[in-house]
Amino acid sequence: MSTSPQLGPRRGSDLKDLGIIHDAAVLCLGGKIVSVGSTQDALRDPWIRKHRKKITEIDCSGKVVLPGFVDSHAHPVFVSPRLIDFEKRIEGASYEQIAAAGGGIRSSLEGVRKAAKSALIAKVADVLRDMAAYGTTTVEAKSGYGLTVESEMKSLEVIKQAASRWPGTVVPTLLGAHVVPKEFQGCSQKYVEIVCKEMIPRAAERKLARFVDVFCDKGAFTSEETEQIFQAAAQHGLSVRAHMGQLSETRLAPFLRFDPASFDHMDHVHDDDVAALAKSDTVATLVPGANYFLGLKDYPNARRLIDAGVAVALATDYNPGTSPTISMPMAMSLACTHMKMSPAEAIAAATINGAWALRLADRKGSIEPGKDADLAVFDVEDYREIPYWFGANHCSMTIANGVIVKRD
Ligand SMILES: [Zn+2]
Repeated sequence: MSTSPQLGPRRGSDLKDLGIIHDAAVLCLGGKIVSVGSTQDALRDPWIRKHRKKITEIDCSGKVVLPGFVDSHAHPVFVSPRLIDFEKRIEGASYEQIAAAGGGIRSSLEGVRKAAKSALIAKVADVLRDMAAYGTTTVEAKSGYGLTVESEMKSLEVIKQAASRWPGTVVPTLLGAHVVPKEFQGCSQKYVEIVCKEMIPRAAERKLARFVDVFCDKGAFTSEETEQIFQAAAQHGLSVRAHMGQLSETRLAPFLRFDPASFDHMDHVHDDDVAALAKSDTVATLVPGANYFLGLKDYPNARRLIDAGVAVALATDYNPGTSPTISMPMAMSLACTHMKMSPAEAIAAATINGAWALRLADRKGSIEPGKDADLAVFDVEDYREIPYWFGANHCSMTIANGVIVKRD
């Protein structure tokens, strides 16, 4: 699969245009894609003929080769699964009731605050390896389960260390504003000041984060607090993204002046904001794994967003509370069955638009000369089988920055 170069993220009817090449060949050199075309043309190429003995050939006949998935929303720095929350939810408790009973995000804090850095690094490194086994080659990794200056910096250092051990690409995000920790309940403004005046400056100075994220919703941070945090991020040269509209509707247009890379979840969005987003380069990142795992009847209205011209991406939202999955094919399957996205739209949303959501579209998300050699090979004859065989992993090989990270 390749995609033609273009000026912005995929929108509207362009989202389903995969630019499929049958019987294709991809030449990679030094971690980059050098050329893409038909196998016949590759075999006639004088340079390839001359150097054929030195080239490692990987036979992918009968298989589907995609750009490596770009998982643009993940929370990998945590210690334990939240099994009590899982059982309580099955018994009928809501997200808010679980949080009020001491579960939810706050129950993951103690583990991360107490954990040794080495133990967290090992956990994140394991997750990156497992993600690659499902075809993911670029991962956004958020902090956000420490929520003290020290533990948030520790989480970002963990991401950096784990990333250095993985051939794929990791984009670190500071999510100090994940939830107001218990110590600051009733005085959230004090906590916001710590995020703005301590966490953001430190993360920026030490180049530990590319983005600042905020969970803007009821029970988390208000629009005013989010604006304050975005302002601080901008002052320190960090780009912004936010969890928006998961539990309730927040008006989005006022935030567009900060040029957010992405608004994520987007279950509840005002009509006027849909129109404003369609005119912006801010991506709407949908994470149907969270709706699935929370057992919700409703999913984000992807059709409404896509048909209005909003750039839509798909991600796992890998986290211990609401979406414990590393599988982009599973997210794609849910997008098809519950959000009425076509398989082709799901693939573009999980690759090139994910790359836009991380501001990496110049290097990631499509198989084009000059981009990083990130490829995922699936042992299926038709790309539509990838979301079709849900729950199974048909990825037989993953190449990240030119390095084979998974091979069956
Ligand atoms: Zn999230």
